[in-house]
Amino acid sequence: MLLDVKKFYSTYIEPKSYVIEVKTDVDSFEGFTLQTPACVAFEVKLVDDMCHLSLSGDVTVNSECARCLKPVSESFSLSNKYVFGLSDLQNPDCELTFTEGGKLDLNELAVTEILGCAPLVFLCSENCKGLCQYCGKPKAQGCSCEQNPVDERLAILKQLLS
Ligand SMILES: [Zn+2]
Ligand SMILES: [Zn+2]
Repeated sequence: MLLDVKKFYSTYIEPKSYVIEVKTDVDSFEGFTLQTPACVAFEVKLVDDMCHLSLSGDVTVNSECARCLKPVSESFSLSNKYVFGLSDLQNPDCELTFTEGGKLDLNELAVTEILGCAPLVFLCSENCKGLCQYCGKPKAQGCSCEQNPVDERLAILKQLLS
């Protein structure tokens, strides 16, 4: 959904709210997928000639534990506020990016917010011990490799040397 900022200014009567369902191709997110439907609510109003945009929403993303590869989902809340004026539509330093026609892509903004809030690393638990480097099973399941972490090549070498 595109917010036509100029039109919003010129026809402003009262605050407006929008709820969008975030649409994204899988490639937009690296390392996780968005659980759908994911809705983000926007509220836009004019205060002293400045446009105040706030957004909020709860989203869930799916990924896998970085250590043991177990599927994990993480839920978090989005909440942010932006204030901008008409002069910002052509301002490359503005934190928001507008189209050439001065429109704001709300879906794109929602995607950016999700990217900014999502965890960098997903773990099934803080103290996940990961996979056993010998047999590849999750260490939490337990295996007998830990007790005998003997590298076979080393063992052969030892035999040859003795
Ligand atoms: Zn794990
Ligand atoms: Zn093992």
